[in-house]
Amino acid sequence: NAIVRMEQASKAFDSPEGGKVHALRSVNLEVRRNEFLTLLGPSGCGKTTLLQSINGFAELDGGAVHIDGEDVTKVPPYRRKVNTVFQNYALFPHMTIGQNVGYALEVEGVGKSQRLKRIADVLALVGLSGLEDRGPRQISGGQQQRVALARAIIARPKLLLLDEPLSALDKNLRHSMQIELKTLQSELGISFIFVTHDQQEALTMSDRIAVLQGGIIQQLDAPRAIYDRPDTIFVANFIGTSNLFEGSIDGAAIKLADGSAVAFDGACSPQENGRATALIRPENFSLVGSSRFSGALDIIREQVVFAGSSFEILGRTPSGRKVTATVPGSERARIPAIEENSAVTLHYDPATVHLIYDTASQG
Ligand code: ADP
Ligand code: MG
Repeated sequence: NAIVRMEQASKAFDSPEGGKVHALRSVNLEVRRNEFLTLLGPSGCGKTTLLQSINGFAELDGGAVHIDGEDVTKVPPYRRKVNTVFQNYALFPHMTIGQNVGYALEVEGVGKSQRLKRIADVLALVGLSGLEDRGPRQISGGQQQRVALARAIIARPKLLLLDEPLSALDKNLRHSMQIELKTLQSELGISFIFVTHDQQEALTMSDRIAVLQGGIIQQLDAPRAIYDRPDTIFVANFIGTSNLFEGSIDGAAIKLADGSAVAFDGACSPQENGRATALIRPENFSLVGSSRFSGALDIIREQVVFAGSSFEILGRTPSGRKVTATVPGSERARIPAIEENSAVTLHYDPATVHLIYDTASQG
């Protein structure tokens, strides 16, 4: 009952340097109805190719795509029940805003009075009431992006694809559009597949995030799970700041090469070689130990940065591993004692330590 189902989807391009670029490698993906799903990953990881295999602009080399229960693998783009909003939203320059937005209805043969009503409704939805008669060059970039969005949703598709639609906007506008888009998606009750390379944007907006690298979905999960429990080192490093400690599992701790240890709480499923990587997010450190914050890690402080509600402490373990800790402003009384090159003990709750078993990226 998924709105989109991809099975073993593969796509390769001829590389300019000769050989092949594998843009998608046997991708399996199910997108739920009414879901805000984000494809997140660095440039060149295959995000646009994945979208284009859904809207039909890219033909797969292997595998299948289903939209709303129908196998569309061989169906041409114009016959697929899906709309796309592009990064460069290219409005028709010689048409008014109203004509741009109503274009799909005109093609469908919807009568004029009905059309005008639906144009007015959808413009109201994106906050552009009354701008029907303006030209695309008489409105701002942010307004043009909303027009592109209105144009894409007026025919009420069940599925909307958005390829980095906010990347051309400045930071403030981008932030307010993030919230508006999310609200709009839940009001419309349609599925969005949204592409971004911005992890903050993905965490803010999504019901689920698919993290891509090298044409492979590394992890598909809710934002919280992606952040707290990344499956791979790549995902841990790509989302947020990570302190990673690789070593061998010894009881309820990871023993590091330098003799120190990171405690964890809960089950572990060691690999055959008994190794794992412990992840501690910066905000899970404290300068104060307690029965709960029973884990301790000694570092040499290099820098302390005041960030308003918190302090960032940058340092290294005795063996030289970089560590970043974000401690709450309430611990400010302890900060003056932390001089440059002084030893600092960072405390953590072993229950917040996450283990990654990722043979591929360990070394
Ligand atoms: P993203 O959108 O994540 O930046 P793309 O899907 O555009 O990534 O590209 C994935 C890979 O496929 C990249 O290495 C890119 O250079 C390559 N690629 C995409 N489209 C083409 C094309 N039309 N011809 C050749 N290579 C392409
Ligand atoms: Mg792209």
